[in-house]
Amino acid sequence: MSDAAFVDTLRAIVGPAQVLVGGDLAAYEADWRKRYRGRALAVVRPGHTDEVAAVVRACAAAGVSLVPQGGNTGLVGGGVPNDSGRQVLLSLGRLNQVRQVDVDNLTLTAEAGCVLQAVQDKAESHGLLFPLSLAAEGSCTIGGNLATNAGGTQVLRYGNARELCLGLEVVTAQGDIWHGLTGLRKDNTGYDLRNLFIGSEGTLGVITAATLKLFPRPATSVTAMAACESVEAAVGLLNLARDRLGPGLTGFELMERFALSLVERHFPQLPRPLPGAPWTVLMEYAGTESEASERERLASALEAALEQGLATDAVVAESIAQSRALWHVRESIPLAQSEEGLNIKHDISLPVSAMAGFVPRMAARLHATTPGARVVCFGHLGDGNLHYNLQAPEGVPAAAFLTEHEPRINELVYDEVQRLGGSISAEHGIGELKREELAQRGSPVALGLMRAIKTALDPAGIMNPGRVI
Ligand code: FAD
Ligand code: ZN
Repeated sequence: MSDAAFVDTLRAIVGPAQVLVGGDLAAYEADWRKRYRGRALAVVRPGHTDEVAAVVRACAAAGVSLVPQGGNTGLVGGGVPNDSGRQVLLSLGRLNQVRQVDVDNLTLTAEAGCVLQAVQDKAESHGLLFPLSLAAEGSCTIGGNLATNAGGTQVLRYGNARELCLGLEVVTAQGDIWHGLTGLRKDNTGYDLRNLFIGSEGTLGVITAATLKLFPRPATSVTAMAACESVEAAVGLLNLARDRLGPGLTGFELMERFALSLVERHFPQLPRPLPGAPWTVLMEYAGTESEASERERLASALEAALEQGLATDAVVAESIAQSRALWHVRESIPLAQSEEGLNIKHDISLPVSAMAGFVPRMAARLHATTPGARVVCFGHLGDGNLHYNLQAPEGVPAAAFLTEHEPRINELVYDEVQRLGGSISAEHGIGELKREELAQRGSPVALGLMRAIKTALDPAGIMNPGRVI
């Protein structure tokens, strides 16, 4: 079939206005970090699951591969087409209905293209909580969150996207629809297909809808920041906070001074709560009692931390506005970093017990091998997940720095992560960026099993080929 005839087939399925060919397609073809820029044969925007299935069938018949895309906020280059000009970019943005909220069952069923924030708002309108939360929540989608098993800032209490999903609707690589939208908390009927598709980054099928877990909203939520002298002290503070606050501790974020200085430089209008602290911790605590007494409880935990030398200073937010402002500072780090220029990203996880050794050891090695390189270290300490990124030395062109140093710096960081029993991808996934790394470092047995699954579900290899494995 000629390209023109194939595009006509797609137009017949979704309507001519929903097939984009030529023109400026940068919003679909370039990734959020502007590291990958491909070219699509066509961008197709189905409005219904049946249309998704028909598009997949048309692609399968024509031997054309597909790249699913939600909000295009992914950080590993997995959601944009390659540069062959032969792939269909399947944009799920028009599948944006919340199909059902079941208050008694504490579930919400949303289509894949629903923006995360819209789902949070919908839950809130029913007096409930959907706890997945990350800085891209204004544009990332539920489908993308599940396809990457996103983490974010509330994992400590509520888990990753995987833990928040009870059922899926999926279009398979053959164009069949799997209606798996159960809201069941118990269902042991054979292999766990849901968990196979979650985290598969569009390589096994297209997620078209999901049934998600909701939670009661906490009565009160209190935010605090603490200044720490070292990662070791921050880990001590984490233990103390867990001990004093129990499961109410919902978030525990760590930020190094340089990461915050980039926020200051690029977003000078934002507050600077504890200026000069080598390390800053952001804590979120959700309590069941009155705001005053829960704030008191958090404040007394922080006082104990000051007495024990785990923190040198602390502030407790006095209002929702202050709390938002503190979170805004944390969430602005990735944006400030991209304003500063291209950088080398590592999204690593380690046992929390290994953090205090890893950070200074790694900094010393990088200092010795790559003088002037600027480490931007921040992340979800409570989950053992650090974003350990590197920015070119001040004044050095970023692109040249990456070309020259990225492979060696990755090797240095990942060797140490592996030695400590950690992971080279904690929450962002593998995509294009880390595929080679996974091939080299992954367990051969695990990789063999992954390939067998891929071949079984997508024998023609049309679902996001070349990503993950
Ligand atoms: P996209 O970028 O469109 O796609 C991501 C991957 O999923 C691609 O491989 C794509 O092919 C696949 N995919 C998308 N939709 C579907 C679907 N319906 N069916 C099958 N496959 C699909 N991530 C975290 O985990 N934690 C964070 O704290 C975090 N913070 C971030 C902050 C910023 C500022 C930014 C830009 C990103 C952040 N991310 C974070 C990464 C990103 O936002 C998440 O991975 C998000 O879940 C991706 O959703 P998306 O809709 O944008 O997916
Ligand atoms: Zn993160």
